[in-house]
Amino acid sequence: KVRVRFAPSPTGPLHLGGVRTALYDYLFAKNQGGEFVLRIEDTDTARYVEGAEDYIEEALEWCGIIADESPKKGGKFAPYRQSERRDIYDRYTEHILKTDYAYIAFDTAEELDAIRAEYDARGEVFSYDNKSRNRLRNSIALSEEEVQKLLEAKTPYVVRFKMPVDRTLNLIDIIRGNSSVNTNTLDDKVLVKNDGMPTYHFANIIDDHEMEISHVIRGEEWLPSLGLHTLLYEAMGWEAPQFAHLSLILKPDISTLITKENIDSITKSFAEEFIAKNNQFSFDESATLIKSFFAEVKSARFKSMLNENDKDDEITASVKQFLKKGISGKLSKRDGDKFGFPVFPLNFTDPVTGNVSKGYRESGYLPEAFINMVALLGWSPADDKEILSLEEMAKEFDLNKVHKAGARFSKEKAEWFNHQYIQKTSDEELMNILKNSDLNIHISDEKLLQIVHLMKERTAFPKDIYENGKFFFEAPISFDEKAAKKAWNEDTSEILQELAQTLEKSEFNAENLKQIVHDFAENKGLGMGKVMMPLRLALVGELKGPDVPDIMQVVGKEESISRIHNAIN
Ligand code: GLU
Repeated sequence: KVRVRFAPSPTGPLHLGGVRTALYDYLFAKNQGGEFVLRIEDTDTARYVEGAEDYIEEALEWCGIIADESPKKGGKFAPYRQSERRDIYDRYTEHILKTDYAYIAFDTAEELDAIRAEYDARGEVFSYDNKSRNRLRNSIALSEEEVQKLLEAKTPYVVRFKMPVDRTLNLIDIIRGNSSVNTNTLDDKVLVKNDGMPTYHFANIIDDHEMEISHVIRGEEWLPSLGLHTLLYEAMGWEAPQFAHLSLILKPDISTLITKENIDSITKSFAEEFIAKNNQFSFDESATLIKSFFAEVKSARFKSMLNENDKDDEITASVKQFLKKGISGKLSKRDGDKFGFPVFPLNFTDPVTGNVSKGYRESGYLPEAFINMVALLGWSPADDKEILSLEEMAKEFDLNKVHKAGARFSKEKAEWFNHQYIQKTSDEELMNILKNSDLNIHISDEKLLQIVHLMKERTAFPKDIYENGKFFFEAPISFDEKAAKKAWNEDTSEILQELAQTLEKSEFNAENLKQIVHDFAENKGLGMGKVMMPLRLALVGELKGPDVPDIMQVVGKEESISRIHNAIN
């Protein structure tokens, strides 16, 4: 039976990478007719963030990634919160200590710091492993009596994994294929902390075993732990699940993000971060330099500019170094605020700073569009199909088709997906989204529905309908200068004056209005543009928007004529 779990730690909000892991876990489970389990890994109390678990659950729910078993829903293997499973871990701690795979260690933090300093001084890196463990305060190095004495004195201790010496482990990963690691490169990880709580590694394999997990699909950052996990299964005498490690999500191409409008704010956040790390430089100086690079971001020279370093002064060299790092590699949680796109599914308020990071939901993304976009960050369905519902994805999902290489996030692509799904959404539904938004729209349903219908095609986000269609709701307050130059000449006022008189007597439906404007132009011997352009300018304020007769119908007779008069004067 296929059973897959998503096992987030409540150390912060779920981000794009986490959502993708959860989604692939879910899709694989559903594809195989199996079960999808949500388990909260909260044994690291130091990193616990209040509200993070609720956030994760709400986000998954919004995405439609619904667990068969979870802390809230319960299930056969409850509890699903690791902090509530202490008695289970205690049993297995006792068990592993009876094997040759674990030992107890009494070293205090101070003692370990001292050892580390000693190594540092020699230019070496300390590692708690088979070469050093014999010199440290643990049940391998000490005599049985000494250990007994320390235990009786209630000396705090941790349980460590006893990494075998010089074994080559064969690691199997569904996405990456086979690899191997020698145990001499691995250290004796802590399995149980001195408060008796297991660490991630130990709790994780115990729960995957106890919960009968068949496939572990998780982020690439856990690949270095695979050797240890494989040995932990061996130590416990359990069969290991199959593993699949997902590649990173990479930062978007910076040249697609920087615009004239946002270059200053992006520069500012880069400069702030830069001087926080390099406090010998001034903010202004750094910002000027950073901006000069960003101003070139769309030119082919940009990358090579960052890479040349012949005669740079100190600050230029540091800025280049910093920028190169800041624009490549793994998409980080902070990139969202920095570049102006969401990296979280829902708004997240940092409990410490109170800062709000924008979520996809609050930015106007439809959940179906969001998960469709996320699913394709690293997986290609057959025939390179792009638009798929959750059910269709589940039907097609194949771990063998998940990419080994990192997937580059693209803001435009995300918007493209939303645009596609907006087109699939009914006018009524979009109307309801607008009515329930904070836009404060006062207009009849009948009119709003017409507006939605006219604007939908050019809409990526529901609020675009309002923002790009403001002229439906209120008269333009100014006229675009360039447009006015193009649309308006000496005789325009007179033409519109006459047209207004004709319109006064007309029935205001689009079909009829189209005919009237057409006939009007023909009778006067004027080209359509000479009438339509200034008319559009009068109604909209610029030369944009849907067909003019459609606009007039929605705006209505009185308002249309008043806007024409307003433009004439
Ligand atoms: N709790 C780990 C995390 O937050 C889970 C890793 C795993 O899936 O094994 O990423």
